[in-house]
Amino acid sequence: MEEKAIFQGGIQLLTKTDNHDNTMHELSLAQNLIDQLLQLSKQHDAKTVTKVTVMIGPFSGIVVESFAFGFKALKQDHQPITGAQLILETPAPEYICLDCKTINTGDTRTADGHPKAVYETINDKICSACGSNRLSPNGGAELILKQLEME
Ligand SMILES: [Zn+2]
Repeated sequence: MEEKAIFQGGIQLLTKTDNHDNTMHELSLAQNLIDQLLQLSKQHDAKTVTKVTVMIGPFSGIVVESFAFGFKALKQDHQPITGAQLILETPAPEYICLDCKTINTGDTRTADGHPKAVYETINDKICSACGSNRLSPNGGAELILKQLEME
């Protein structure tokens, strides 16, 4: 039985210079992730990476399916990670009310009281505490490598 190494981290994979208009955006981010994995497996002297946990923020602008597809395609070229299982965490968006500072989570309602789907536009959401429609995204713009299991 080989020893298992676990990396617990919070490596930010998005950089300010990343261009969101670029159609290859998710692919280049998947490549960033792979570069990090190769570096970390080398640092830990690991033969294989078995499991990777990545958090994709709801306001990151990243298409989750494209990112997962890019990772799956690109990992084939790199022996230590070809078998790595990718776990994607996609937390619900949070909005802070600019009037009363209450933090509203994804289940905010429209002005007419109907619940809205998590990923719909922010424009018609209202604050659950005071009814204001002045809501602003609260965090959630990150792409973070959270955990890595290696053998
Ligand atoms: Zn409010």
